[in-house]
This record gives sequence, C-alpha cells and structure tokens, in this order.
Amino acid sequence: MKIICIGRNYVDHAKELNNEVPAKPVFFMKPDSAMVIANRPFFYPDFSKDVHYELEVVIRIDRLGRSIGEQHANRYFSEIGLGVDFTARDLQSEMKKKGLPWEIAKGFDYSAPVSKFFPISKYKNLHDLSFRLDLNGSTVQNGNTSLMIFTFEKIISYVSRFVTLKTGDLIFTGTPAGVGPVAINDRLEAYLEGEKLMDFPVK
Ligand code: MG
Repeated sequence: MKIICIGRNYVDHAKELNNEVPAKPVFFMKPDSAMVIANRPFFYPDFSKDVHYELEVVIRIDRLGRSIGEQHANRYFSEIGLGVDFTARDLQSEMKKKGLPWEIAKGFDYSAPVSKFFPISKYKNLHDLSFRLDLNGSTVQNGNTSLMIFTFEKIISYVSRFVTLKTGDLIFTGTPAGVGPVAINDRLEAYLEGEKLMDFPVK
C-alpha cells in the first residue's frame, strides 16, 4: 500500500505557511514504513529539531482504479479515519528553499500515525465533518471538511490520473490551520465528529 498526502488543502493553513492557495491539488507520498497504528507512540527523530503535527482526515481506497472521473470517485472509498502527517518542518523549509523533494521531511519512520477506520455510512455528510487535535489537553487544530479546497472526489480523480490507486491505499486530505511543534512527552488526542479516535504520546 501507499500513503498519498494532499498539501495546502485548507486556505487558512496555506496562508499560515505563506504558501499560495493552489489551483490544482498538490500531493506527495509517504512509504508504508511511515505508518503507525493502534495509538503506538510517535518516536521523535534525531535528525530534526522542529517536528510539527498536522491532523488530517484520511480515506482508505477500496478498489483498484486509474483516471477515475470525479462523478465516480465516491465508489472508490468506503472507510474514513484520522491521521497525523508529522513533518520535520526544519528539513522541509531547507528542501523548499532549494527546490528539492520533501521525502526526508515527510516520509520518515513513524511520520504517519493513523486511527482505526470506520464505514463512511456512519457519518451523515462527509463534506461537513468536524475534526480537532488536542495537544496536552488544549485544542490546537479545529477543522471541518466543508473547508477543503479540493473535495475527496476531486482528490481521487486528480491523483488517479498520475498514480493508480489500489485497495488499502490511504489518502491524507490536508490539514487546517494551527500546525505547530511537538516535544518528547507530549500527548496528542484527535477527534472526528466529537469522537476520540487517536490518543498517543511522543517519545
Ligand atoms: Mg499535511
């Protein structure tokens, strides 16, 4: 499986990092070795001094598909959850400045903890889902999928023009404003529609 991540999909987050609001989805990938499940700890890497959390809604692809039309895209996923796109912001800034790829800043081990996944039928409206991240008991990110620049369907359609989607692939759909650093001994708790789906420490 592969992990596809959308960058700059919320206007307020694009602005907080002084990025342009994109006209097309921006995506990058993390290897499967980045994934962490079952609320296992995030281990702070020794090559960065500025690792940031980015809470994101994640969809799981459940059918093989390429060049999927937007109108059919909803047939390609049936489960949804949350994930944290951990980012070594110091390395990313360096790579951005030089116009180099982001993998060392985005694809490292433990950089993609995910929650359990739930059938989308559990939720009334996928385009109006609230999600939030608490860091040590204080809310630091508050998002709603209604504020996504590119919907789940647009993302699937766009990405699948370039990359075949396979069963089990995950798509991180972008983070809202409020990203910030984590430190060893922090606790992260993530909620979707008020229900806690993630609760894990930084070690
Ligand atoms: Mg992200």
